[in-house]
This record gives sequence, C-alpha cells and structure tokens, in this order.
Amino acid sequence: MMTFYLQIIIALTGSRRNTGAARRGRAGGRAFLDSIRAGFYLGGSKQPSLENAVPVILDRSLTFEQGPIRPPSEAKSLLLRFTRNCPWNKCKFCPVYKRRTFSRRPLEEIKADIDAAAAMREQIVALSQEMGQAGRVNDRVVQAVFQNPRLSDAFRNVAAWLYYGTGNVFLQDANNLVMEPAALAEALRHLRARLPEVKRITSYARSSTAAQRRVEELTLIRQAGLDRIHIGLETGYDPLLKFMNKGVTAAKQVQGGRNVKAAGMELSEYVMPGLGGRQWWREHATATAEVLNQIDPDFIRLRTLRVPERIELYQDLAAGRFEKPGDDETVAEIRLFIESLQGIHSYLASDHIMNLIETVEGRLPRDQGRMLAILDGYLALPARERLKYRLCRRMGRCREPQDVARQGLGLGLEEALQRIEAEDDPERVLNEMADGMV
Ligand code: SF4
Repeated sequence: MMTFYLQIIIALTGSRRNTGAARRGRAGGRAFLDSIRAGFYLGGSKQPSLENAVPVILDRSLTFEQGPIRPPSEAKSLLLRFTRNCPWNKCKFCPVYKRRTFSRRPLEEIKADIDAAAAMREQIVALSQEMGQAGRVNDRVVQAVFQNPRLSDAFRNVAAWLYYGTGNVFLQDANNLVMEPAALAEALRHLRARLPEVKRITSYARSSTAAQRRVEELTLIRQAGLDRIHIGLETGYDPLLKFMNKGVTAAKQVQGGRNVKAAGMELSEYVMPGLGGRQWWREHATATAEVLNQIDPDFIRLRTLRVPERIELYQDLAAGRFEKPGDDETVAEIRLFIESLQGIHSYLASDHIMNLIETVEGRLPRDQGRMLAILDGYLALPARERLKYRLCRRMGRCREPQDVARQGLGLGLEEALQRIEAEDDPERVLNEMADGMV
C-alpha cells in the first residue's frame, strides 16, 4: 500500500521516480511538509478523520493525466501533460521514456484536463472556505486533501501547487513543440483563461524541433502564453552527440536555441558533465561551451551523468567502449567548461542532486571567478578530504566542501568515512549511494 509520505512526494512531482528532487523541494518548505518528515500531524497527536469530514466538496472522480518527470526547478509547479513520452526516445544516457510509445494528445483532451485542474482548484478553495480558512490553501487545507485517499494524484498536485502559490505550470512530456503551433497556442490560451492566476508556463522541447520551427510559429506560441523552454543540450560536441544517439548536431542546437530566444521565450539549456567519458571530456567541455556562447541562453543547468544498468550506455560501459569519469575528473571538466563560457550573460545553476557541488552557480560573467574558485578549492583538498566531502554529499548532508567542517557533521561523517575506507572498492560504494538518490 502506498504510504502517506509517498503520496505527498508523488503529488509534488507527478512521479514516483522523482523522489530525490521532491525531497529537495520539500526541504525548503514550510511547517506542513516539515511535520510530514517528522512523522506527525499538525493540530494534535490524534489523526483527524478528514476523509469523512470533507468528502462532499471534493469530487473524487476528477483527475487529469500527468507524465513521469519535470525539471528540478519545476518542483512546485502544476504539471499538465500535453504530449505523451518522447518522439525520439533513442538517447543512450536517458532512462525516462524507454518502452513507452510517443503519442500526441487531441486538443479537446488537453482542454478537458485543464478544465479538470480548474475544477479542482475551485473545489479546494471552496473546501478552504468551509473549513473557515477564507479560501487560503494553507497547512490545514492541504492536509485535508492529502489525507483523503480516494482523491487522485492530480488532485494532490493541484493542492500542493495552490499551497506553494508559485503560479507556475510545467507542460509534460519531452517535446511539446512537436504539436501543431496553432493547436499548442490554442491549448495555452485555454490554460491562461481557465487558470488566470498562472504566472509562468514552461515546457521541455528538443532543439532539433526548435530548429525546425519558424520564429513566427514560436512567436505565436510565446504570445499564447509559453514563457520558457527547457532543452536537453547535453553536449555540443558532434562526435559525442552521434555516439549518444542524440539525434541532433551542434549546429542545430545553436539554431534551435536562437529560434527560441528570437521568439522572446526564456531558454534553459541542460548540460551533462561526465557525458564525454574519459575519452572526450576536454572536447565535450569546450565544444559545449562554444555552442552556448553562440546561444546565450537565460539558464545553463548542470545535470551530471549517471550510468545505471537500465540505460543503454551501461552496455558500452560494461563492454569498455565508454569509461565514466570519477567525481574529481568531472569537477575538472566542469572547471574547463565554465572557464570556456565567454561573452554570455546566462545564469548557471547546479540544481540537481547528482551534481557534486551544488553551490557552483551564479551569473556570467560576474560570478565566473567565484565559481572557478569553488571548484579549485575542492581540487586542492587532500585526497582524504575530497573523499570525505563526496561521502557527505552522497549522504545528502553537504552542498559544498565547507559544509564538512560545519558543526554537527564531524563525528558521524568520520565514522562513515572509515567504513567506506575499509571497503574493497570505495568508489563502487559511493557510486551506489549516488545512484540510490535518483
Ligand atoms: S530527447 Fe530527451 S527525453 Fe528523448 S530520449 Fe533523448 S534525452 Fe530522453
């Protein structure tokens, strides 16, 4: 049976597979979510029978479709699915949509989902009023929704969205720019009309599709309400793009990114440190920076490679065709990458749990020196201190090397380090710990 804790994670993420990211979103949250982590309920030690207290207001038959993932930066967003899965689905490093078939959703179906989300919002606000909370979706109200086991995961997502009050919506799945521009614009207008409090709408897209779309088509989509596109650039090095079956060239990446920006949308490009392996790490770092230097996206987001057994790249790893760099090598690669970013004004973020040092982030070029200094500081540490930090990070207790010295971490971490050092293969243990976080 699904636990209460897991239900909350799913509501915040739209997926059982995003628990790591959900934990991060929850960590900065307010009292309600803290109380969940602590394992007790608000308002007294006895769990109230809320299912029986409020069932008439919330329509249990209401639901809408949601996909498996969203970017970490959309942890507090409403998730609406415009297309299903990925129309490409061949990238060797990607585990997300494998064995799932891409399909377009009819416009009327998407509109019906938006209507369902709007109806849920109205019912949750009505519930708040009935509970004497003046329409606010606060701890008590969101708790009432979460504790009603017959409500859909989508209902919980709407409640969490209202609770956080971000007004952000993320459109799932992998590439909504494949929709006919007129149909996508119509769906966006419907979304804006039915949920007028929406402040920002974002979506994933492939750069090859963005390159195919005319700027006028993208402008139509922008004017209809799409504010930001998230693109998985991964690398700008052509031989590596080919090896990974990414289905795009560096030139198309540049064209796609420029088209999005020319249409007036914000652009977030994801880069995958480690993807070049030991063979191509330098080329990966410098060619990726060169592509980004030609685009000047609003955001560059690092998302370090993992190679779990379920992805195709694992076969290359096992056969010796791909050598995955270690953490220290990846830090050196990120250093070269950041150093090679020139003439742009992007915000670089390390907002993914797989990144070794989360605080390597800032505005270019202003913060470039500071980011490089953080990486240099790590690389200058004695080997045992680097190992200790890596362990601390994979235990989920550190965001940057200085955290190791902070009060309260010292003793337990030292004991854990000694246990790791006693292992035959500490690297394997650290890898397993990292893989266990996603
Ligand atoms: S295009 Fe994106 S979602 Fe599709 S397989 Fe590649 S990385 Fe995965």
